[in-house]
Amino acid sequence: MFLPQETIRRKRDGAALDDAEIRTFVAGLSDGTISEGQAAAFAMAVFLRGMTTAETVALTRAMRDSGAVLAWDLPGPVVDKHSTGGIGDKVSLILAPLLAACGAFVPMISGRGLGHTGGTLDKLAAIPGYRSDIDRARFAAVVRDAGCAIIGATDDLAPADRRLYAIRDVTATVESLPLITASILSKKLAGGPQALVLDVKAGSGGFMPDTAQARRLAETLVAVARGAGPPTTALITDMDQALGHSAGNALEVTEALDALAGTRRDARLIEVVLALAAEALLLAGIEPDLAAARRRAATRLADGSAAERFARMVAALGGPADIFADPALPSAPCVAPVHAGREGFVAAIDGRAIGLAVIALGGGRTRADQAIDPRVGFAEIAGLGARVDAARPLCLVHAQGADAAAKAAASVRAAVRIADVPPPPAPPVRERIA
Ligand code: URA
Repeated sequence: MFLPQETIRRKRDGAALDDAEIRTFVAGLSDGTISEGQAAAFAMAVFLRGMTTAETVALTRAMRDSGAVLAWDLPGPVVDKHSTGGIGDKVSLILAPLLAACGAFVPMISGRGLGHTGGTLDKLAAIPGYRSDIDRARFAAVVRDAGCAIIGATDDLAPADRRLYAIRDVTATVESLPLITASILSKKLAGGPQALVLDVKAGSGGFMPDTAQARRLAETLVAVARGAGPPTTALITDMDQALGHSAGNALEVTEALDALAGTRRDARLIEVVLALAAEALLLAGIEPDLAAARRRAATRLADGSAAERFARMVAALGGPADIFADPALPSAPCVAPVHAGREGFVAAIDGRAIGLAVIALGGGRTRADQAIDPRVGFAEIAGLGARVDAARPLCLVHAQGADAAAKAAASVRAAVRIADVPPPPAPPVRERIA
């Protein structure tokens, strides 16, 4: 007979749990036979004692299987990407249609903003008419036709994670490597990818402040993803500054449209997109090596076929019929430059503070049920090493009014350090974990 308290006791005492008891415990999380107190005690025991890779694989699989697991029948490989979240991270908006244009299919189930970071669904919600809450049949039809569809999670995907996550959130057990890993991967693997790329952000704007912590998370994610399912590669990418030159929902959609159309491309953003695209195409077997995969991705970005896929996806999901001709994105009533207190070079940026400033402008949530203002945020953000002076501001703040703009400007000035010399250049991709 399965006794939840025995499983909790064994984990409390540092034992490794076997597959069957993990599966039974997770089944109890979904059907309610495990109480809130038992789930909390389990989470704390795992937090304090950790889990082996085999246990984390079992937990991931059991949580994935606690709800629907999507199966695809498409004329090409199904690939997906997950990012641990950052500031100005609009990679999915470019990468999903780019991979589609390269011959892959990308059913991407994305989330809303979390903590100080923005969410892909919130960015897409800035597009008038865009529906991310469609049913499964429509999701499948859009993926088949456009090659990609970015939508929100439905309640039947990994329900055990939803329950455990809510309990972790209020019991100081979020920051556990095995629990984070199983939580992220159970949801991703429920989407049925045949190859997965992970963008693990390291730096002041991410959840992992340094490369060493990001590496531990990336290594765990890759080992567990491979153990539980598809071939997976992670890149550790720089989040010591916003990715690209904008942060805020409609502003980031504009930047993604510019990058897709080729009217303006931020070199660091494109580097991250192409590096992830190359890894995904290699894992999916579309190209035999990374160099060829990168060439294919660069060609499809340059020739406009990724843009065409994005436009097709947006139109199919209720957005403008031709988003590049008429994006119809909302814009903020107040736009003002934010000047640094002195001339010099941008030497350091507190990315987290920039993310919190976007939330304070109304571009993110302080409560789960809050509506967000898609118009606000920062544009023309001066990156690390940029020279700022009377002619070149730190950024342009897009706000609901002058008061909000002034508060945001003060936050940005406090978040940026100016020096007489530029910092050494930092590559956008720090490491590859394969
Ligand atoms: N994102 C998730 O989905 N789960 C975690 O545990 C942490 C981040």
